[in-house]
Amino acid sequence: MSPTSPPYTGRFAPSPTGLLHIGSLLTALASYADARANGGRWLVRMEDLDPPREMAGAADEILRTLEAFGFEWDGETVYQSRRDEVYRAALGRLQNAGLAYPCYCSRKDWQAAAVSGADGFVYNGRCRLPSQRPSDNGKAPAWRLRVADEIVGFTDGIVGGYAQNLERDIGDFVLLRADGFWAYQLAVVADDADQGVTHIVRGQDLLVSTPRQIYLQRCLGVPTPQYAHLPLLTNRLGQKWSKQTLAPALDLSRREALLREVSAYLNLPAAPEVSHPRALLDWAVAHWRLAAVPKQAICTESSI
Ligand code: GLU
Repeated sequence: MSPTSPPYTGRFAPSPTGLLHIGSLLTALASYADARANGGRWLVRMEDLDPPREMAGAADEILRTLEAFGFEWDGETVYQSRRDEVYRAALGRLQNAGLAYPCYCSRKDWQAAAVSGADGFVYNGRCRLPSQRPSDNGKAPAWRLRVADEIVGFTDGIVGGYAQNLERDIGDFVLLRADGFWAYQLAVVADDADQGVTHIVRGQDLLVSTPRQIYLQRCLGVPTPQYAHLPLLTNRLGQKWSKQTLAPALDLSRREALLREVSAYLNLPAAPEVSHPRALLDWAVAHWRLAAVPKQAICTESSI
């Protein structure tokens, strides 16, 4: 970083749709080690934006689990469910700049004739022009961001170059859902900017979202952080561990073994014997090398 860059601020941003699993531990450890090894701050943000998908009690359990592994974060935990004003202000700026528009299409309507893109179907822009917008029937609209026919690319600290043409690969994407919930893309960009996040270390499942987030940052006139997208940990079918693939929750009686396991996936050298898992975090910070992190997905289950 140059002497004029803002101080390193990293973050770990779990969604309380389930408990932490081995993949979350890898992300927590890597984002923590990268932040601390660079003398940076490390924040925890609870991404509880989607109550219907959340698991009761998961947010508290996630924080207790992080503490049990010895993680210490800077400042208070931020809850996205309490930050409506921040997101409303961001949407207001985009609306005032003529970059966001209301969309009254039902998913069924627009997906019927849509083509597949980089992350599901590409919205065809039907509501872009007021003259083509279907009537609202008294329903609240979704709000979409008008994207441009241009390449949005960046150099990832692990993956290397990555780019999309948002108009062709994604389409105008949702900022506020018709059901009144904020979309992940808007919330994450507004929060990262508001919290001064300079470095984002997270799983490769989010690589596909990054050009949308960079484009939003440009529309909002906020800085673009540095990105590093970690290899995904998968089951033996090659599926990312998640609630849907029945990822087992972290077993607190195996904290040391689990930290040693994810440290090995990150190519950290094996640590000597320790008396508390916290010492394994210190070891990871002392030996951290982003350049040593592999790109390819890693299967954590032995083959059948
Ligand atoms: N909340 C997201 C997740 O748990 C992570 C978002 C991010 O790191 O940008 O997958």
